Formats: sequence, C-alpha cells, structure tokens
Amino acid sequence: MDNLVTRAAKDLAAANHVVALTGAGISVESGIPPFRGKGGVWEKIDPMEYAHIDAFMNDPVKVWNVLLKDMKLLLEEAEPHAAHMVLGELEKRGSLKTIITQNVDGLHQRAGNTDVIEFHGTFAQYKCLACEQQVDSAGIDIREIPPRCACGGIWRPEVVFFGEMIPPQHLWRSKLAATECDLMLVIGTSAVVQPAAFMPVIAKESGAKVIEVNPEPTPLTGSISNYLILGKAGEVMQAILDAMP
Ligand code: NAD
Ligand code: ZN
Repeated sequence: MDNLVTRAAKDLAAANHVVALTGAGISVESGIPPFRGKGGVWEKIDPMEYAHIDAFMNDPVKVWNVLLKDMKLLLEEAEPHAAHMVLGELEKRGSLKTIITQNVDGLHQRAGNTDVIEFHGTFAQYKCLACEQQVDSAGIDIREIPPRCACGGIWRPEVVFFGEMIPPQHLWRSKLAATECDLMLVIGTSAVVQPAAFMPVIAKESGAKVIEVNPEPTPLTGSISNYLILGKAGEVMQAILDAMP
C-alpha cells in the first residue's frame, strides 16, 4: 500500500483538474452502513421490497417504518470523517473541482466541498407527495409514521428510488466533469450501480488517470483504473494527503 500511496500523492500533486466519484463506502467510517457488501443493509432487507419507488407509493407506511425512519435518524447523527475532510482540503488547495457522489448523506458539503453533484439525491430535503412543497430534514416530524405535510400529503425524501430517473442535469454535469478531469479518484464505490459506474470509464477514455480506494477490488480494477489502493477510505486518504509535497 505504501508505494501506491506515494504514487497517488505524486499523481495528485501533478494533476490540475481532479474529480472524485464517491459511494457508500466513503461514509462507512462515519457509521453509515453501505447497502451492498459486508454488513450492508441489503443483507437484511430486499431492496426491491423497500427501495423501489413502486414499493414506496404502494405502501409508504411500510417503507417509512423499515427503511426511511432509521436512515433519517442515522444520517442526522453522522459526522464527516478523515476521508471527507481530505477531499475538503484538496478543494481548498485548488486541484479538486467536483465531487460526484452516490451518497445521500450530505457529508461532503459538511466537510467543505462546494461543488457536489448528488447523483442519487439527498436526505437533507423532503417533498410532499400531494402539494409538492419542499422542506429541510429538520422540518420533518417522524413521531408519527408516515410523516405528513400540513396539507395531509405524505413526505418523501428527495432521493432517487430504484425505478426513478437520475435527474438529467446531474447526469449531464457528471458526464461533463468526467470528461474534463485529468485525474479521477474513485472512493468507496462497488462500481456496479449504473450510470454512476460509467463515469470512470468516461474519464479514462478522455485521457484521465483513474485511482481507486476500496478495501476490495471492483469491476473497474485492472481494466479501467490505473491502480487500486486497498484499504479504508479514511486511512488511505489521510496517508495520501500526508505524503503530498
Ligand atoms: P456501493 O455500491 O458504492 O458499495 C459500497 C463499496 O464501499 C464497496 O465496494 C465496499 O467494498 C466499499 N467499502 C466498504 N467499506 C469501505 C471503507 N471503509 N472505505 C472505502 N470503501 C469501503 O454502495 P452501496 O452500499 O451498494 O449503495 C448504493 C447506493 O445506495 C448508493 O449509491 C446510494 O445511493 C445509496 N446509499 C447511500 C448511503 C450514504 O449516503 N452514505 C449509504 C448506503 C446506501
Ligand atoms: Zn403538502
């Protein structure tokens, strides 16, 4: 790992336009379990039963009780950790321009990053299914399930459920960012959820270096990424920052 950390520090120092693609893995050390993989939420519940838009529309009480309530409480308590802070620092130093994240936890913004494309939306905002009013998470009272707007409509988080479209402007901006970068950091994503997993392919085809940080190999490893640094996001990113000139 040490050699690759030194190599990544050099590659980052030499890059002018860095873009990061992050997945649930970057927030594991903040106490938020991923969906897939070890300890993932999917080991306990079936995604199609709870995270599909049809499931939510058919039985919002069930989906609020089993998935959304706990997720909201968990995300309200979570704090950014070293990996988020290092990305904040890389933006301050000028090279990191954009983060494309599949996460819905808002931790990149809390670590100081200002250009964050939330590919799958966010739990920070909610919309009423009836009147379409939007409110912040703090305005949602979950003592009664499902939480309801003053008009009687049920609140939904502004996340992209399975079966829903990625907002086209997010897709468009992400493709542009992937095209423009000269280095893409791919941190904590299993690279199996499309179209997010395609962004490193676009970056590579546009001539960028692609560096992965993950405790496990992914479908990008050995083909799309130049190299994989095996390890936890917090430890690896801190070591890279410390090794930078
Ligand atoms: P994913 O497909 O991005 O997979 C998680 C990846 O993280 C795996 O490759 C795993 O090896 C890696 N990982 C585990 N621990 C790590 C660590 N400490 N450091 C670095 N990498 C680590 O994510 P998923 O769980 O399959 O979720 C898919 C979608 O679900 C996300 O794209 C998001 O929309 C949503 N989700 C969001 C959050 C969040 O906001 N934090 C959490 C769970 C799920
Ligand atoms: Zn309403």
